[in-house]
Amino acid sequence: MSFRPESGPAFRSGFVTLLGRPNTGKSTLLNTLLGAKVSIVSPRPQTTRTRLQGVLTRETAQIVFVDTPGTHKPMSRMNEQMMKAVRVSLEGVDLVLVVVDASRPLNQEDEMAVDLARDFSGPGFLLLNKIDLVEKPALLPLIDHFSKRHAFQEFIPVSALRKENCTLLERKIIECLPEGPPLFPPDTLTDQPTRFLAGEIIREKVLYHTRQEVPYATAVVVEKFEEPEAWSPPPGAKGREARPLVRIHATILVEQPGQKGIVIGAGGERLKKIGEAARRELEFLLDARVYLELFVKERRDWRQQAGVERLIDWRHS
Ligand code: GDP
Ligand code: MG
Repeated sequence: MSFRPESGPAFRSGFVTLLGRPNTGKSTLLNTLLGAKVSIVSPRPQTTRTRLQGVLTRETAQIVFVDTPGTHKPMSRMNEQMMKAVRVSLEGVDLVLVVVDASRPLNQEDEMAVDLARDFSGPGFLLLNKIDLVEKPALLPLIDHFSKRHAFQEFIPVSALRKENCTLLERKIIECLPEGPPLFPPDTLTDQPTRFLAGEIIREKVLYHTRQEVPYATAVVVEKFEEPEAWSPPPGAKGREARPLVRIHATILVEQPGQKGIVIGAGGERLKKIGEAARRELEFLLDARVYLELFVKERRDWRQQAGVERLIDWRHS
């Protein structure tokens, strides 16, 4: 692909940060824009614990997205770490997108996201997400409110889930980026190591299968991630057999003894479901056969311990 056609528009590239309180749909939006799953989604807040990047390369532009853990009041050591990640994610970016959930009443945390956008010297868009859940006229007071709070360059109603207005959003984002060469090779999707992504997918399945019973007291450590170095399918192999085998061992850390039982379930049923769901998604993602072994360990107060950064952000390891 030629990045600077002789005629036609100049290539544009830059960093775009998503800001917003937990659960407004930032990860969903990122996945929709990228057309692939790079950030895990959950109906519960605080699913994203670190900054993640997704890279979208088009004929004439490259957008590097920085997903954030969401804005909230720092409480535990983990949350402080998360807010630090939010501030750091604003350094050197070209555009911020503040994502609000148009279907729920606004709160303090939405205002914190706007404050962060105000601290930032560059342009910002306000995205009113989940418009599939609201009547159009309900958006007007929201736009009115936010236009008084900050000089946003655009107010764009979207539905990350239904993919509404996302093409328009992409175009508006690109218009905002400075001219410049691509920052990553064109086939890059994310800068997250696959190993980290594997842990996040497992964590997503734990959250999904345990619902309210295990609060955020879960971390996943991938102990072993073994891919064959060079692999070619055996002659005549078809389907699954034609794919390499990846061995993954991961430990699910919980805070309390009762939670260990919940994750494992009666007769190990729940852990089996978690493992099955994670394995299926990992096989798809890695285009491989996956042998997944899961362990559950109790580690009291892992969130308050030094070294927690390493569990929630691979950049620290
Ligand atoms: P984040 O915490 O901001 O990253 O939010 P997520 O992307 O994890 O999404 C939180 C929840 O909102 C999930 O259950 C999503 O399926 C849901 N969601 C996200 N975008 C939309 C949308 O446009 N419409 C609807 N109805 N739900 C959405
Ligand atoms: Mg998220």
